[in-house]
Amino acid sequence: MKVLLVEDNPGDARLLDLMLQEVLPSYSLSHAGSLTEAITQIRAEKFDIILLDLSLPDATGHQTFWQLHAVALATPIIVMTGLDDEALAAELAQAGAQDFLVKGSVDARVLQRAMRYAIERKRAESQLRLAARVFENTMEGILIAEVGGRIAAANDAFCNITGHIEKNIIGLPKSLLWGGGDNDPVAQQVRSALESNGKWQGEACLRRSNGDLFPAWLGANAVLDSHGQVTHWLIVFTDISDLKESQDRLHYLAYHDPLTNLPNRMLFQDRLMQAVAQTSRGGRAVAVMYLDLDRFKNINDTLGHAYGDRLLRMVAERLRQCVRETDTVARLGGDEFALILMHIERTEDATLVAEKLIEVLLPPFQMDQHEVFISTSIGISFAWPGHEHSPNFLEEADVAMYYAKSQGRNGYKIYVPELDAVAYDYLVLETSMRHALERDEFRLYYQPQVAVKGGRVTAVEALLRWQSPERGLVPPDEFIPLLEETGLIVSVGEWVLRTACQQARRWADAGMPTRVAVNLSGRQFKQANLVATVARTLHECGLPANLLELEITETILMEKVEENIRQLNELKALGVTIALDDFGSGASSLAYLKDFPVDSVKICQSFVLNLPHSDDDSAIASAVLGLAQGMRLTSVAEGVENEQQAAFLRERRCDYLQGYLFSKALPAEEMEHLLRSGL
Ligand code: C2E
Ligand code: CA
Ligand code: CA
Repeated sequence: MKVLLVEDNPGDARLLDLMLQEVLPSYSLSHAGSLTEAITQIRAEKFDIILLDLSLPDATGHQTFWQLHAVALATPIIVMTGLDDEALAAELAQAGAQDFLVKGSVDARVLQRAMRYAIERKRAESQLRLAARVFENTMEGILIAEVGGRIAAANDAFCNITGHIEKNIIGLPKSLLWGGGDNDPVAQQVRSALESNGKWQGEACLRRSNGDLFPAWLGANAVLDSHGQVTHWLIVFTDISDLKESQDRLHYLAYHDPLTNLPNRMLFQDRLMQAVAQTSRGGRAVAVMYLDLDRFKNINDTLGHAYGDRLLRMVAERLRQCVRETDTVARLGGDEFALILMHIERTEDATLVAEKLIEVLLPPFQMDQHEVFISTSIGISFAWPGHEHSPNFLEEADVAMYYAKSQGRNGYKIYVPELDAVAYDYLVLETSMRHALERDEFRLYYQPQVAVKGGRVTAVEALLRWQSPERGLVPPDEFIPLLEETGLIVSVGEWVLRTACQQARRWADAGMPTRVAVNLSGRQFKQANLVATVARTLHECGLPANLLELEITETILMEKVEENIRQLNELKALGVTIALDDFGSGASSLAYLKDFPVDSVKICQSFVLNLPHSDDDSAIASAVLGLAQGMRLTSVAEGVENEQQAAFLRERRCDYLQGYLFSKALPAEEMEHLLRSGL
């Protein structure tokens, strides 16, 4: 034991040393003759106990104690004075001295006992102080209850968290803390745990003074006295509302798509598994729908991602409105959505929903000044109760969706195993399409347009073909939708434009100037740099602009009318002519015709087909031709297959005829031959 003796009187010091020698076999005594000396020693090493004389050369009275105590807070101090002063003793005890001895009255035994007690008391005191400090300053709410359940004490944190005021709850039953009051199930667990093994820990639902419930992480301990008897229960808890909230939020984020707030693929799969498990227990069938927006990429590319995102949110909202509470609408990613329909009894239960989904997306989406149209292709698969079904029936719906897409979009298809092959073909098609351009597999064919006046071929329409090594010559209807879907149409379209212009230049150079008409897809038309591309191509090919005609369909023009008119004017300013293709097939055609700066209209094949037998079609064809003449537009009839049709059209002064009656689309060399020798 290390003892510091602070004593200026050498006689007293010697006496104490002797007494210590008598009772403490191993101890080391350091001696300080003044307060300053004592403080220096305390700063240099740690003592187990300090024996302090209050009258020193540099300090006297209780000042001496305070100054020493301030530097040796953790060390027990026994004060020794020459006279017995009750009041001073009390004051020093209050200030933290462990004992007070009167010098003359102390023998070795008394000193030994005093020192032992002083050390023990100091230890207990500092533990208590520590406990009190923890009790008051901890963030955890602490409640001390008697075994009977009455509240004995509560700390500040408890009051802050619960809103209770300590003095108001002392003596009340602690059940006021439990969310469920007296019958709270967790409270019962805690009680029996405390009774059997003295502790419990876990999550509990607690109640604030205003009645609000909150989640808490709670530990409960039985407090024993020295005989091992339980005297109190100690309950310590933290409010985990915030934690819970952020956990819930994290959980939500992990299972939802942040853009649309719909369940994501993970949650969808979870729910699907549950739903399917129900069918095998004899419930009703479950249907899965796979939705893919048609040409969504278009919108993303032309209007930008911000609009794309907004559109997806709007789409999600409309989809959600079509299903019941028990159904699930999820976004799987990109422009792909999926649905789980519960309680299906018949196929129609699902197909009706599919029709509804298609219908609900039909009205245009209004985004600022833009009206955007979108459609969707849907694949459906079913899990019938009691039937063996594939674990991949989301994939089956996906396959059916592909099939729906290949069948012209904006429709739905139900999965049957035969579709696997179709979807596979589609996939192969997509892959090989991607290489067709670089492998130089595209061909341009040309179909003559015959001038009614004079009967000569003065113009041709360029029509795209794909010379596929596996499939042979593929007509455009089979691959252009795919080119559009994948965005490849833009680069393929540029190839078409260049090839057609080069060809027209060659024919012009050979003394057979022939105007060539090139079809533009919607996506191409919406490219911001279209005008520049056309100008550059004309320039590079050295083709007079009047030998190029651009064909666009009226549906392309309807979306952003003003902008389209500007774009058409810019194209016309280059000197090229514009033809409105498939005229009459769209709904609002006549009203708009006067607004669009076009040079010619091509009467839609479908009206030509039944001339002159169908009265309706005859009337429409006549009206369109009359209108064209009235507006001084050139008229072209396509799909002319027989003499009666040609006669009808000639009679009504159609300007150009195009169709199998004269020739189908031909490769460039054959077309050249036809131009040389005439029809
Ligand atoms: P379209 O622009 O309406 O082209 C006319 C289509 O009618 C051509 O089919 C042509 O071969 C066909 N046709 C011509 N005469 C007759 C006839 O007497 N009877 C019948 N039944 N059909 C006739 P094709 O070449 O299969 O092209 C189909 C569509 O593919 C075109 O319709 C056009 O929309 C698109 N297309 C063709 N080439 C291109 C291209 O280079 N770019 C773009 N964007 N689309 C193209
Ligand atoms: Ca055309
Ligand atoms: Ca056409």
